[in-house]
Amino acid sequence: MNDLYDRHRAVLPDWLALYYDSPLEITHGEGRHVWDSEGRRYLDFFGGILTTMTAHALPEVTKAVSEQAGRIIHSSTLYLNRPMVELAERIAQLSGIPDARVFFTTSGTEANDTALLLATTHRRSNTILAMRNSYHGRSFSAIGITGNRSWSPSSLSPLQTLYVHGGVRTRGPFAHLSDAEFIAACVEDLRDLLGHTRPPAALIAEPIQGVGGFTSPPDGLYAAFRDVLNEHGILWIADEVQTGWGRTGEHFWGWQAHGRNGPPDIVTFAKGIGNGMSIGGVVARAEIMNCLDANSISTFGGTQITMAAGLANLNHLIEHDLQGNARRVGGLLIERLRAVAAQLPGVREVRGRGLMIGVELARPGTDEADPRAAAAVLEAAREGGLLIGKGGGHSTSALRIAPPLSLTVAEAEEGAAILERALRSAY
Ligand code: PMP
Repeated sequence: MNDLYDRHRAVLPDWLALYYDSPLEITHGEGRHVWDSEGRRYLDFFGGILTTMTAHALPEVTKAVSEQAGRIIHSSTLYLNRPMVELAERIAQLSGIPDARVFFTTSGTEANDTALLLATTHRRSNTILAMRNSYHGRSFSAIGITGNRSWSPSSLSPLQTLYVHGGVRTRGPFAHLSDAEFIAACVEDLRDLLGHTRPPAALIAEPIQGVGGFTSPPDGLYAAFRDVLNEHGILWIADEVQTGWGRTGEHFWGWQAHGRNGPPDIVTFAKGIGNGMSIGGVVARAEIMNCLDANSISTFGGTQITMAAGLANLNHLIEHDLQGNARRVGGLLIERLRAVAAQLPGVREVRGRGLMIGVELARPGTDEADPRAAAAVLEAAREGGLLIGKGGGHSTSALRIAPPLSLTVAEAEEGAAILERALRSAY
């Protein structure tokens, strides 16, 4: 076993567990592959959502980062900063939000914190609507709106949160309904909550729940919610930390599957945009962004080096149509995994879109979540040379597949074959 494992106690409190019985030390990567400290190569079907939106060690990003490191990294809030302005202009334009302004942070948590700061101040309300099973980060306020209990380690949040049905289609009281009935039932649930509370500031939602297991509602749910929110002046915050930048294939942002009534008021983003450099941020209408009545800055949000990485990464994504690639290659992968699922009674569902694919496992012949099988498949896939993730609600019974967006058809086929063997070995 790698000696780093024991030494990890220095940074690893007891409430955090590493993946795998014998945890991996990843030492380098290229494209869609990573290598461990023993020199073994793996196809990386999870890093895309964590850090690496386009490809590991993307030459354009490496060049932009090293050139910027050799030039200047200085305050982004006290002096003019060209790469920050250029990336902000691009994001504002891509956001679909009219008169949009961007504020950069260093993480998804801080991005959501900023969105909550803006919404609660703008509306003078500390009541928030959030989705059951959701995950929004690890700050005191983000924990307070996170619906997934296994990722909510404190109940002392200053926010008043009401949890809405709709983020999970697979299980729950409305699972048996048709899509239209499901939406109607969730809207009814929202109306019911609003009838019994002080006016909330905002509804925050991940268009596809990430940590929750890549679960998504029928298209149009949030557009239907929007009708109700508009009646009360409640803001809509889309947490696009996992769903942004073309990952879902059909759309650049996840909210666009629910865009009938226009864009959200606030969109938050983070994770892969810097291809490993820490960028988070908020984009919102100027009127909302400007509601704060005192200074509020982030020292490392928007530094020249992270912004240079983000610009190079975004240019690569758009020039190579990686959103289209996610749609095409992700579509093939979903089809291939559904064919496998049809033969294996333990695979309850293959869901998602683009290169954000969830595989829900259940005890064969039942609807009972099967976290033991999910853990076994993760280990077997790793043995076969494939890294995947897992997630879920009360139990971790979904496999999560989110490769870098440049995945090739051959790599998708290879990964699907390894995963099929891993699934068969678990059942
Ligand atoms: N929102 C969502 C949807 C996330 O998936 C995450 C991270 N898993 C966050 C917010 C928090 O981001 P970070 O870990 O960068 O603080």
